[in-house]
Amino acid sequence: EKVYQKNDAVLTPELPPFDYSPPPYTGPTAAEILAKRKEYLSPSLLHFYKSPLNVVDGRRQYLFDENGRRYLDAFGGIATVCCGHCHPDVVDAIVNQTKRLQHSTVLYLNNAIADFAEALASKFPGNLKVVFFTNSGTEANELAILIAKLYTGCHDIISLRNSYHGNAAATMGATAQSIWKFNVVQTGVHHVVNPDPYRGVFGSDGEKYARDVQDVINFGTSGNVAAFISEAIQGVGGIVELAPGYLPAAYESVKKAGGLCIADEVQSGFGRTGSHFWGFETQGVVPDIVTMAKGIGNGIPLGAVVTTPEIAEVLTRRSYFNTFGGNPVCTAAGLAVLKVIEKEKLQENAFVVGTYLKEKLSALKDKHELIGDVRGRGMMLGVELVTDRQLKTPAKAEILHVMDQMKELGVLIGKGGYYGNVFRITPPLCFTKQDADFLVDAMDLTISRV
Ligand code: PLP
Repeated sequence: EKVYQKNDAVLTPELPPFDYSPPPYTGPTAAEILAKRKEYLSPSLLHFYKSPLNVVDGRRQYLFDENGRRYLDAFGGIATVCCGHCHPDVVDAIVNQTKRLQHSTVLYLNNAIADFAEALASKFPGNLKVVFFTNSGTEANELAILIAKLYTGCHDIISLRNSYHGNAAATMGATAQSIWKFNVVQTGVHHVVNPDPYRGVFGSDGEKYARDVQDVINFGTSGNVAAFISEAIQGVGGIVELAPGYLPAAYESVKKAGGLCIADEVQSGFGRTGSHFWGFETQGVVPDIVTMAKGIGNGIPLGAVVTTPEIAEVLTRRSYFNTFGGNPVCTAAGLAVLKVIEKEKLQENAFVVGTYLKEKLSALKDKHELIGDVRGRGMMLGVELVTDRQLKTPAKAEILHVMDQMKELGVLIGKGGYYGNVFRITPPLCFTKQDADFLVDAMDLTISRV
């Protein structure tokens, strides 16, 4: 084994030490699982690597393959595993609740559900305190859009180009990345210019981009809209942090047109930005409806919509419920997640380690022409690869190669964006500075070889 040394692009970086060895794995091999997947699972399912990885164990920021090999999970289950894989407090909460009561219906009371709703509501500003649980981010956004339509009596929805909000009827309509859109009827959605500081025409001037929201309301609708839905940092879209000043100006136009403002916090919530608990807080706005999923249950299927009592009232016009949404096992996990984030100061860690990592990635950009942009905040960072910095030509083939090589070195990382040329770094919030060093060394070495 060669030992890694700085400035020597031939040698190999090593993972920081970690005190856990998974039990021996006796299940089928990766090749056998792949064969089953091809035969029995939907062909739409993606995997990025040339030779697919069979993950069998997870502990904190690490995943283990069938041979017990450890990988740094810099994608965090797509920004989902916020406390780290198999966090003991979350596991205990799930096991204890499962032993006591696995399922309850809306007909009965249950403390695991009510306690988590109360704890979640305490994380919001203003009068955002009524919680409706769902099973996923898609369901949460579908419900938010429905509520907005009912409340306003309008149908027009405004969302941002490059956004991702889910894959059901209304949410696929609101999503604005062609790769995720099927050719089915998606009416009443208007996609506005994306306030993307790197690729957008107005650079970092959020207020200029927001003029398009006003234009769309003036010229593309009756003058009234149901809702404006937006992430604060676009995740699937390639970690695009909206230009400063965008949301306050956009919200103002939408509110004047009678619409509700929906903050999609599916990726950016639960302390991931480091600086704030919710992504919308980074722009100093207070939405009317907030949607969340992913980090809420550390990987357990759970989502939620949070709004004000006045807006929530519209759902009493008819009956509305969700069989599994707010299952006590999931809400027990959710409560444990909130406690772990607080107890282990994970938001603070996301800030400190995220700032450190971003600085190191920015230094890497000075070294490698292939890196066009480094962006994001906390544990939601993006590295955009381009083959020509002037033209910002997406390095689509190169990113696949770098990603594959990083996996060989022991780092798992995501990618996304319009062109699929942006690394998405969204690890568990317990990521350490040593992990950050390792990730940067692995990226440095791999890019040097491209
Ligand atoms: N909203 C955002 C911002 C997302 O990133 C996603 C999923 O990646 C969703 C909504 C949809 O969530 P789910 O996949 O849980 O339905």
